[in-house]
Amino acid sequence: MRANTWAGRNSVEVRDVPDPKILNSRDAILRITSTAICGSDLHLVDGYVPTMQDGDIMGHEFMGEVIEVGPGVDSGRLRVGDRVVVPFPIACGACAACANDLYSCCENSNPNAGIAEKMFGHPVAGIFGYSHLTGGFAGGQAQYARVPFADVGPLKIESDLTDEQVLFLSDILPTGYMGAEMCDIQPSDVVAVWGAGPVGQFAMDSARVLGAAKVIAIDKEPYRLQMAEQAGHTPVNFDEVDVRSRLLELTGGRGPDKCIDAVGMEATHGSAHISAYDRVKQAVRSETERPHALRQAILSCRSGGVVSVIGVYGGLMDKFPAGAWMNRSLTLRTGQCHVHRYMKPLLQRIERGEIDPTRIITHTLPLDEAPHGFDIFKNKQDNCEKVVLKP
Ligand code: NAD
Ligand code: ZN
Ligand code: ZN
Repeated sequence: MRANTWAGRNSVEVRDVPDPKILNSRDAILRITSTAICGSDLHLVDGYVPTMQDGDIMGHEFMGEVIEVGPGVDSGRLRVGDRVVVPFPIACGACAACANDLYSCCENSNPNAGIAEKMFGHPVAGIFGYSHLTGGFAGGQAQYARVPFADVGPLKIESDLTDEQVLFLSDILPTGYMGAEMCDIQPSDVVAVWGAGPVGQFAMDSARVLGAAKVIAIDKEPYRLQMAEQAGHTPVNFDEVDVRSRLLELTGGRGPDKCIDAVGMEATHGSAHISAYDRVKQAVRSETERPHALRQAILSCRSGGVVSVIGVYGGLMDKFPAGAWMNRSLTLRTGQCHVHRYMKPLLQRIERGEIDPTRIITHTLPLDEAPHGFDIFKNKQDNCEKVVLKP
């Protein structure tokens, strides 16, 4: 089959690779009809996840048709011919974490949990297409994929919604939604969202759906801010204004009630594995050239407010504003998205027309053009917001 593979730092390549096979009795094989490129893939391409190997298949946002199931898959839940969306965290559905709806913390889904334990001092769960640190599972930017615990995660789509309407249930729509839900939004709340990428856009839409009075979009890419403005949110360009002052202006001098970081490592590049020299260089660069989203969110939030972090971090982060967090009684909430929790209720919101996930798609490309898709998404060219790939 054809698959988009990691080919070293800043390089992906579509290659011929062996078709996936059933390895465990609860596996299924999917023929993929649509898959997408995510901001999380950029952390891999940028080289911030040190356990990617040449030839690893990328991608954790995908859907398609079940063409084979292992003998242990519960036929009441999944059968050959079903059309499904696959959540990006791999979850067994039976461990203590899964029993508490903490699917992205599943205790049974990462056969390589020891690597993270050694590197960061804590385990991480299994994720598709996200390096050997998260289990070494092949990703979904391919013609076919193997899906473990296939009767737990995949959501059947039984209506005639298009792939484009449901694909993002695999990750970014639930992630944006969880970012807003963690804010415990009240009707008078002003919610500020750092990052107007795909995840940020869905955090903004979700904040509105959950009843926020005003939603502010912070980014520096004019076309991304314009997209947020067209959806009814208030843009703030951090290249043009001092963000904290502008936020104070917009909130009667108090600061936003709730702040969502939908940026993550792009701003910090603070992973533990990079060399000490690189870390200092990058810290200096991020202080002088571009503001740091999470620090700014913590320093801008009103007293007693919530800072919700859905941007991805790995390893350590320098200069965490512990003083503001403590003295202003802030609540910090975060997590890799527990996608399984949100798929069904969000599918219903899509069916009812409350959220239109297709509004962020700017590019649809054949799988073979994945490298071009990565280029324009990473470098913010051609007004690229979200790329869908068709295998
Ligand atoms: P993206 O790279 O397209 O978007 C990030 C945006 O942040 C860009 O538009 C960039 O211009 C903007 N930005 C950079 N520095 C900023 C700053 N200081 N202030 C404000 N904006 C800034 O990526 P995406 O697909 O939208 O993903 C965003 C983040 O969410 C990534 O870190 C990704 O890994 C993470 N993510 C997390 C989960 C989860 O489960 N928690 C799931 C999916 C993605
Ligand atoms: Zn993703
Ligand atoms: Zn589990």
